[in-house]
Amino acid sequence: MIDSAIQQKFDNAKKITFLTGAGVSTPSGIPDYRSKNGLYTNDASDKPAEYYLSIDCLKNEPEVFYDFMMKNMYYPDAKPNVIHERQAEFTQKRDAMVITQNIDGLYQKAQTKKLVEFHGTLFDVYCLKCGKHVDYHEYLHDMHHKDCGGILRPNIVLYGEGLDGENISRSVAAISTSDLIVVVGTSMRVYPFAGLIDYRPNSAEVVVVNQEALNLGFPITMVQEDASKFFEDLQVN
Ligand SMILES: [Zn+2]
Repeated sequence: MIDSAIQQKFDNAKKITFLTGAGVSTPSGIPDYRSKNGLYTNDASDKPAEYYLSIDCLKNEPEVFYDFMMKNMYYPDAKPNVIHERQAEFTQKRDAMVITQNIDGLYQKAQTKKLVEFHGTLFDVYCLKCGKHVDYHEYLHDMHHKDCGGILRPNIVLYGEGLDGENISRSVAAISTSDLIVVVGTSMRVYPFAGLIDYRPNSAEVVVVNQEALNLGFPITMVQEDASKFFEDLQVN
């Protein structure tokens, strides 16, 4: 059972923003490459995952980049779980938005109505040479664009690249007008995403649902439990 005081915060909120990370996707079978059990430590090579996810790797060793993408990043058969689905329901029935760090496309699959994919998505692919966007299935078969021979890439923010300005402004606009901010499955240590919370109104309530207790430096309601369990019990009223 969910704590009734917490359910009430959701029921009474006029505008909700969810800030989410890798912990939302692990129940769908997608590993968190930053975590202990993620790719970072499973990788037999001497380079950290951050290198393979960098603009330098894409530019200098496109074959290595492509190989890393195919082996570690794409889970085209993964399905949204109850966390994605419940948050999507909030965006459909209430004034709510999801801002996620995840690039796995699961919020889109769950039909999230108002969504910012802060770091882009693996399922939007375009050609570096001609700029055309192609179906991601083509990329799963070949790193080259069949029309022009250019190198294809996913529309994700790589290390060494800047963020999309529109994503930032939409995120700031949502947070600065929300009275309930819900942090789920992220330790809020990766900037600039983590800095978004600083745009909240002083009066906004912040609820954190995470396995590990977080100290954000201001008062929060900490729900230290399995996010799947929490969202299974949470009602969209
Ligand atoms: Zn092309």
